[in-house]
Amino acid sequence: MNIILLGAPGAGKGTQAEKICEYLGIPTISTGNIIRAALKSGTEMGLKAKAYTESGALVPDEIVIGIIKERLAEDDCKRGFILDGFPRTIPQAEALDKMGVQIDKVIDIEVPDEKIIGRMSGRRVCGNCGASYHLEYKRPKVDGLCDLCAGALVQRKDDHPDTVKARLEVYHKETEPLKDFYSKQGKLAIVEGQEEVSETTALVFKEIGE
Ligand code: ADP
Ligand code: ZN
Repeated sequence: MNIILLGAPGAGKGTQAEKICEYLGIPTISTGNIIRAALKSGTEMGLKAKAYTESGALVPDEIVIGIIKERLAEDDCKRGFILDGFPRTIPQAEALDKMGVQIDKVIDIEVPDEKIIGRMSGRRVCGNCGASYHLEYKRPKVDGLCDLCAGALVQRKDDHPDTVKARLEVYHKETEPLKDFYSKQGKLAIVEGQEEVSETTALVFKEIGE
């Protein structure tokens, strides 16, 4: 099954992607994580993307489309995949169609802006491996340390409140039109983000028929 997770930054796409990944045994492809890894290891693509991500802007379509093309060509995607954070613009969605990638289901996780701004302040990531946590919703076993690698947890630069507002504006302008795009293809399902992560997961699983 090939799934796209849509939704504002901080709506919980990454968390739900992990659950689906565990359950269906298909990989999650997060353009955000791929870009952050490139930034960290200082590759050419990372250097190109740096200024955009730090200000909350989108990285140019051609760069992320290139990332996705390469990643989807890998063997582990043959049995299905979950796209988290891609597509984020109409041209990106059109590029997927052009590549001949069949999408089965697009799940849009809806969370109001005010809630997102509150939630994002609690978000932390592992500075070493990139795993994500939340001070309220997904606490690490030991405060400040990653469960997986014991790396120090840090706040992403783009999770600071002003940047979050900029990212939400970009989301409404550039990404939200994708709801219409996929609704016309008959693939869109809307899930209201719940207070409890597990409740959202239950709604998501219902949509993918599990
Ligand atoms: P979030 O946690 O807000 O969903 P991500 O981790 O997916 O954010 O992405 C972080 C940043 O990486 C974005 O703000 C953007 O600058 C860049 N990025 C990720 N995916 C895309 C994409 N599909 N198109 C353009 N830029 C992207
Ligand atoms: Zn870690």
